Amino acid sequence: MEHRKIIIIGSGPAGYTAAIYASRANLSPLLYEGFFSGLAGGQLMTTTDVENYPGFPEGISGPELMDAFRKQSERFGTTLLREDVEKVDLSTRPFKVFGKKGLVLGDALIIATGATAKRLDIPGTHEGEFWQKGVTACAVCDGAMPLFRNKELYVIGGGDSAVEEATFLTKYGSKVYIVHRRDELRASKIMAARAINHPKIEILWNSEIIDVQGDKTVQSVVVKNVQTGQDTKRSAGGVFFAIGHKPNTDFLEGQLETNPQGYILIKKPGTTYTSKDGVFAAGDVQDPIYRQAISAAGSGCMAALDAERWLEMHSH
Ligand code: NAP
Repeated sequence: MEHRKIIIIGSGPAGYTAAIYASRANLSPLLYEGFFSGLAGGQLMTTTDVENYPGFPEGISGPELMDAFRKQSERFGTTLLREDVEKVDLSTRPFKVFGKKGLVLGDALIIATGATAKRLDIPGTHEGEFWQKGVTACAVCDGAMPLFRNKELYVIGGGDSAVEEATFLTKYGSKVYIVHRRDELRASKIMAARAINHPKIEILWNSEIIDVQGDKTVQSVVVKNVQTGQDTKRSAGGVFFAIGHKPNTDFLEGQLETNPQGYILIKKPGTTYTSKDGVFAAGDVQDPIYRQAISAAGSGCMAALDAERWLEMHSH
């Protein structure tokens, strides 16, 4: 049976960075890239221009950046597996990782499976429609794109993310609407006040977007007032989902401590140690706050260094 010192699960910036560091430490890691999504590389694979990753003054496309991460991890000897992990058994060491094609044992594990931005099933917002052609789930990643400049932009949600994204988008759009299903924001009081008082933000209360229309890119939305039942077609240049993220932790089946939303808890602040000795977590799967490629990559580096030192302490 295959047995590795380090197994990394997840192929975004955190997973590949952990692999670069672990392979350069001669730990010949095995990295599960995932198969089900068809897209190794994580959330950046659906982002067009990445303009805030340091080192690329002209910007770089998400897939190009991830391809470079991937190649760099392979160059130092990472084994990449295009396979989903179905479950893990963390009850004894070595840990057991059950992939689609079989079982591999690992002395240390790095979990970097990321999080998925939630989306709604609204006509016009899917892949093949206006997804990434005016519809996105990350204002910070995509908001500065030319197609959103001086347009009316719509942010769906009522939490801190919706307010933060709407505020960010005021730099680019002519007007930003927050479309919220209730008559009160979930966002913290201070953030809510910021949105309510912002001259370029208007909140459409008790409302939902029920259709997104356009030609090559988004041109209009239909907003339904859920109290009156009235539908209104409005001019729109962009639609941003900000209804929260779901960390990809289902496969752990509760074997690691998480917060109520499912984010893996880091047990030693400032490290990547989880509730299970020998299991480390990096990237968005343990980060409900920053969620940036650069912070994910940084924590991937930390996880590899933590795992390397932990292995040294436990190899005798
Ligand atoms: P969140 O707090 O869970 O808010 C999600 C919002 O989306 C809610 O207003 C919810 O409406 C709405 N929503 C959910 N499902 C929906 C659906 N099916 N249809 C329509 N609307 C839907 O998520 P978040 O805003 O991403 O924040 C997550 C965590 O990160 C929070 O703890 C937040 O405080 C934190 N955060 C902090 C900051 C900051 O401090 N700078 C920034 C961002 C996030 P309801 O209100 O009706 O449930």
